[in-house]
Amino acid sequence: MTANITFFPVGNGDMTLVKLGDSDETAILIDINIRNAADDDDDDACDVAAELRKRLKKNSKGRPYVDAFLLSHPDQDHCNSLQKHFHLGPVDEYEDEPEEGEELKIFIREMWSSPMIFRRASKNNTLCEEAKAFQKEARRRVKVYRDKNGTEIEEGDRIKIIGEDENGKTDGLEKIIVKVDETFSEINGKNNSYVSIYVLGPVPKQELEEDEEKIAKNHSSVILRFSLSSSRGKKDACLFLTGGDAEVAIWEALWKKHKDNADCLKYDMLLSSHHCSWHVLSYDSWSDSEDPKVNADAKAALSQTIEGAFIISSSVAIKDDTADPPCMGAKDEYISILKYDKERFFCTGEHPSEKNNEPLEFSITDEGPQPPAKKKGPFMATAGIMTSREPLGHG
Ligand SMILES: [Zn+2]
Repeated sequence: MTANITFFPVGNGDMTLVKLGDSDETAILIDINIRNAADDDDDDACDVAAELRKRLKKNSKGRPYVDAFLLSHPDQDHCNSLQKHFHLGPVDEYEDEPEEGEELKIFIREMWSSPMIFRRASKNNTLCEEAKAFQKEARRRVKVYRDKNGTEIEEGDRIKIIGEDENGKTDGLEKIIVKVDETFSEINGKNNSYVSIYVLGPVPKQELEEDEEKIAKNHSSVILRFSLSSSRGKKDACLFLTGGDAEVAIWEALWKKHKDNADCLKYDMLLSSHHCSWHVLSYDSWSDSEDPKVNADAKAALSQTIEGAFIISSSVAIKDDTADPPCMGAKDEYISILKYDKERFFCTGEHPSEKNNEPLEFSITDEGPQPPAKKKGPFMATAGIMTSREPLGHG
C-alpha cells in the first residue's frame, strides 16, 4: 500500500508521520509542533495541521485518527498544539459535532509514552501545558489499564510504556512496557508484520556515566530504530533511526554499549537529533570554543549508514553562521557520514525551497527509501535520486 515517512516543516521542532505498507495503512505519528503561524490562513507558513490531516484516515464514526502517537520527550517544540488538534480524555467524551470553525479532533488509538523521560524533563524544568496534558492522558490510560486488569482495553484507551521507570513505578504494567533493547511489532493491539521497532532509549541511568541532572540536560528522549517493510511487503526496506533531541552523552553511551554489535544502530534514514544541533556530536560549544571537537563515539553511533542512506534535519534553514540549532558544523559532519553526498542530506526548512516549505515525503520501495521527485530546475525533472542497495543480511 502506501509505506512512507513524512517530515513536516515545523521550524526547529519535530513532526514525523510513519505510514506502514499494510492494508490498514497504519499511521504512527512521532511528535508534533503545530505553531500558530501554520494554523493561520493568512500566514505563508506550511499548514502542517492540514497536511497531517490530509494523510490520516477516518474511522467508521468519521473521526480522523492515528494508530499510535509517540512523544519523544516533553519539550514544547515536540508537542505544540496537542490539545487543539487531538482528543484527550475518555473515548465517550469525543466531540463529534465541533463548534463552528473548529475541526474534528484527531483520535489517538494508542499512546506511546516514557515516564522516565517525563521524570528527567521535569527535574530541570516545569513541563509546558501541552506536555502536562499528554502526561495527564497517559496517566488516565494507565489507570484504565490497571482498573480493568489489562483486559479488553479499547482503542482510545490503549497505551504503551517505552522503557521501565525506576523504583518499581511501572510494576504491574509489564504487558504494556517495551523495555530498552527489546523489539516490538504490536501496534494498537495488533501484531503488524510490516514493522518491527527496536527500543534504543531512553538510555537507563546505569548505562550513562553522568548523573541524572546531566542526563536531563542532554535531552533524554525515546530513541527508536524502525525496520519498515516496503509498500510491497519486502522486509527491512527502510531502517529509520529517530531519537528526539538526544544529545552527545546519550549517543556516546549507545556507542559504548553497542559497538561490538552495532546492527541496531544501522539506518537508511536518520532524523538528526535536536534539529541538527552541534551538541549531538560534541561537548564543546559551537559558537564559544575556538576549536570545537567532535566526540568520536557519538559520531560513530550516528555513522552506521547502509549504502545510499539519507539524513534529515527537522529545522529552519541551515546557515553558515554561529546559530545552533541548526548548526552548519553539525550538517558538515552529517555530510561526511554520507560520504560527502550532499544530495542525501535534507532540511525540512529548505524543502523544496527556504521560502516555500512543503512536507518532505519519502516513499519506501523494495529498493529502499526514495526522496520526493524534484519538481523543476536545471537538473533532473523526473525521478530524484533513485537508490538501490544490497539486501540486508539480517531480519
Ligand atoms: Zn526539539
